[in-house]
Amino acid sequence: MALKTSKDDFQELSPSEFFYRNREIGGFTNPSRALYSTLRELIENSLDACELHKIKPSIQIHVLQQEKDEEEGNIYKIRIRDNGSGVPQDKILSAFGKVFYSSKYFLRQSRGTFGLGGTMAILYGQITTQTPIVITSSTGDDEIWSYKFLIDISRNKPKVIDKKIVSNETGWKGTIVELSLLGEYSRITHKIISYLKHTAVVTPYAEISFIDPVGRLFFFNRKTDDLPNPPKIVKPHPHGIDGEAFRKIMQKHSPNTKLTNILQNEFHRVGEKTAINFLKYANMPNKNISEIELEDIILITKAMQTYDGFLAPSSDVLSPISEKMLKEGIIKEFNPEFVRTVTRPSSSYSGHPFIVEAAIVYGGTISGERGEISLYRYANKIPLLFDEGSDVSNKILSNVNWSYYKKPSGAPLGFFIHICSTKIPFRSLGKEFIADVPEVEREIKSAVRILLRGLSIYARKIEKTKTFKKRLVTYKKYFDKIAEFSMRLAEEDNAPNMEPLILKVRERYGTEEES
Ligand code: ADP
Ligand code: MG
Repeated sequence: MALKTSKDDFQELSPSEFFYRNREIGGFTNPSRALYSTLRELIENSLDACELHKIKPSIQIHVLQQEKDEEEGNIYKIRIRDNGSGVPQDKILSAFGKVFYSSKYFLRQSRGTFGLGGTMAILYGQITTQTPIVITSSTGDDEIWSYKFLIDISRNKPKVIDKKIVSNETGWKGTIVELSLLGEYSRITHKIISYLKHTAVVTPYAEISFIDPVGRLFFFNRKTDDLPNPPKIVKPHPHGIDGEAFRKIMQKHSPNTKLTNILQNEFHRVGEKTAINFLKYANMPNKNISEIELEDIILITKAMQTYDGFLAPSSDVLSPISEKMLKEGIIKEFNPEFVRTVTRPSSSYSGHPFIVEAAIVYGGTISGERGEISLYRYANKIPLLFDEGSDVSNKILSNVNWSYYKKPSGAPLGFFIHICSTKIPFRSLGKEFIADVPEVEREIKSAVRILLRGLSIYARKIEKTKTFKKRLVTYKKYFDKIAEFSMRLAEEDNAPNMEPLILKVRERYGTEEES
């Protein structure tokens, strides 16, 4: 066969155009899923805008059905208002009108990481309804700015249609996003409510209200005024660095900067001694930047990944929920009979710090909708509601050897597993399930083991109580007789009073069962 010799037509694709063509990779596969993903992305942006600035979130979401289209889905108008940091006026258009524009490209835990989610939702809305989006925001200064715009997809740039500036009399701080999109609420209602409920579990300090297209109000109240400490921003850990990142770091410095200086100033927890020891390990003289060749960079970064003399990354970059708050959130939403929570010490994989938190719940309104054991997964406080079967936690729970543990009979159990990290090892861009990285798997297993031990102790205790209560019913029948015999035996005139004894037992084990 002859080779094709004609000139191929090369084109450049803007990031917006790319996502326009491949919108299914961000979770915009069909109208129901797109409605879910849009709400999820906007809520996550609002929560980030509050938590990263230590503000107690108050978020109001309103979804209104505008038009009915039997075949394709319906047109909905979404309005979401938060009391977060607000967006600086000169950044509003780029933050919402450009893919890959973010204030979160730092090393610390946040829900958003790609500079993609909110903008993708906006893009999807625009593509399906041809309606502009309106963003109203203030950082609490004396003006509130409002932009109505479309995204120019091929240029990855916003196209302003209208702009309003009003004076901020009340010092309001926050953001309102209004957009229309093609969706389908009825088929995804359950998942959306579940998403909100499970978000409420891990953010007991937030107040979230949702008015759905049918006009129902779902309200998730604030249970605590405590807020987790916002994560700190840190420098990259040497274990997580590659050649390209190292080259970029070097470019920031003058040609006569020494390698040891770069290591000390640009990397997380590297001091002078560690820098010197590392260079010895890498077999690399302490060169000036100007003397460093491409091969040196490859050598250095490879050695960085394998050198075990670096301190582990600090967990300041993370913001776990905490055992106490996770418990509060679970009690608030499920009112269970038993709950045990655990926050594991921080750990790391490939230079990325992470913490695993978990809870086990028995009784209350844990539904057991997914069988005897329900698994609720979270990553950086985001509930993950799709693709459970492929997740590492699912694998771990399916492999629990129940002959080692005891569980109360009857009601279903719920497991909550949260991993927070500067880089969640998601398996796909849809951010729905976590890969089985050995370090992460080990931590989840340890957490699950602690919880199962806690559950076993509880199960034994309630079994003991049950047996005792049953016995008490039987004993009670004979108490009067025993008292009478004791009286005769002791040749007394009055039978001993059994009431205090019964009271004491009741105090300890509750009232006896009637069966
Ligand atoms: P990401 O969340 O990954 O950074 P997005 O496209 O969702 O990407 O958002 C882009 C940027 O817009 C965010 O980094 C943030 O700075 C800003 N932003 C979005 N929503 C809000 C909001 N509700 N309040 C404050 N800032 C916001
Ligand atoms: Mg986002």
